[in-house]
Amino acid sequence: MYDTIIIGAGPAGLYAATSAAMHKLNACIIESAYEFGGTLNLYKQKMVYDMPGFVKISAGDLIDHLYQQYKPYESEVKMFLNCKATEINTLDTHYELVTNQGIFKTKTILLANGGGMFEPRLLELEGADAKSNIYYNVKDVSYFKDQELVVLGGGDSAVDWALTLSEVAKKVTLVHRRPDFRAHEVNVEKIREIGTVLTPYTPEALVGYDKVDYLTLKHTEDQSQIELKLDALFVFYGSNPAKTSMDKWGLDVENNLIKVASDMQTSKKGIYAIGNSVTYLGKRKMIVTGLGEAATAISAISQYLYPEKTITYKH
Ligand SMILES: Cc1cc2nc3c(=O)[nH]c(=O)nc-3n(C[C@H](O)[C@H](O)[C@H](O)COP(=O)(O)OP(=O)(O)OC[C@H]3O[C@@H](n4cnc5c(N)ncnc54)[C@H](O)[C@@H]3O)c2cc1C
Repeated sequence: MYDTIIIGAGPAGLYAATSAAMHKLNACIIESAYEFGGTLNLYKQKMVYDMPGFVKISAGDLIDHLYQQYKPYESEVKMFLNCKATEINTLDTHYELVTNQGIFKTKTILLANGGGMFEPRLLELEGADAKSNIYYNVKDVSYFKDQELVVLGGGDSAVDWALTLSEVAKKVTLVHRRPDFRAHEVNVEKIREIGTVLTPYTPEALVGYDKVDYLTLKHTEDQSQIELKLDALFVFYGSNPAKTSMDKWGLDVENNLIKVASDMQTSKKGIYAIGNSVTYLGKRKMIVTGLGEAATAISAISQYLYPEKTITYKH
């Protein structure tokens, strides 16, 4: 049984995972998306100017710093990606958290679910939802060994995955609808060297029965068409936040935000909440406040579960 389960691996949840490990709590963190970072993934290249300790830092680098701080503890506080919390069952002695990866038993819960779940932007072509070789994430790179792969997208995810897949694939073709990429230049140069880059092209049609055998591409300027043979098609168009109704957890809410006390406890004993999904007098929706709330919540959870071992700082 877990001491606590953190729901959501945005900045608040990621830092809560580090903090839980520092407090030696038996914890895990679950994230509905295939990547951690939450809302920061939507603006990876934008600079953040209000992060203490940094004059400026890109959102992408900030995710990386938060992850590097958590990484030494990842075997103690495990992270489950593509793991959606759908229900909380209240039992006499603990909670049961229902997810698409099974039921987790836990003494407390820390909601860090921000503005809601992130879902990948899907490929909008006829028949795309029924094809078995279209992927929105990569679970095991070795599965694609010696295959001919096509990667769609122009951001860091698409370029980074194209590079990673190139290490095992027979051939990788990266396709983007614009001539310029929204990704680190050095990585775009690398994929140009070791793979094939086609721009500016948009996907037009999928050819194949239960899987895609050929992808038809249209040049966005001269409208000419080409066909690519492939074994697997990867779509990295980023993610969309899917609105969550906060009252579904059975907690007191105000304007669809979870009401919390100053120790970040919600209206239910043992359920805490932090970050963009909460409200209290003076709440600011900022990364820095979410990180502070994570520290407060984890201390409060530690004190609630293990009052004897909690260090209190004298005022
Ligand atoms: C364009 C833009 C620019 C911004 N610039 C700044 C800035 O410069 N400085 C600043 O301080 N703030 C900025 N913000 C705000 C900042 O991004 C948010 O305050 C911050 O991301 C909130 O962090 P969070 O961890 O609470 O939630 P989120 O970042 O939203 O993360 C929540 C995570 O929980 C996951 N999740 C949700 N529901 C479930 C579920 N049921 N099961 C499992 N996982 C779930 C989601 O997939 C997501 O990954 C900006 C926001 C935007 C949109």
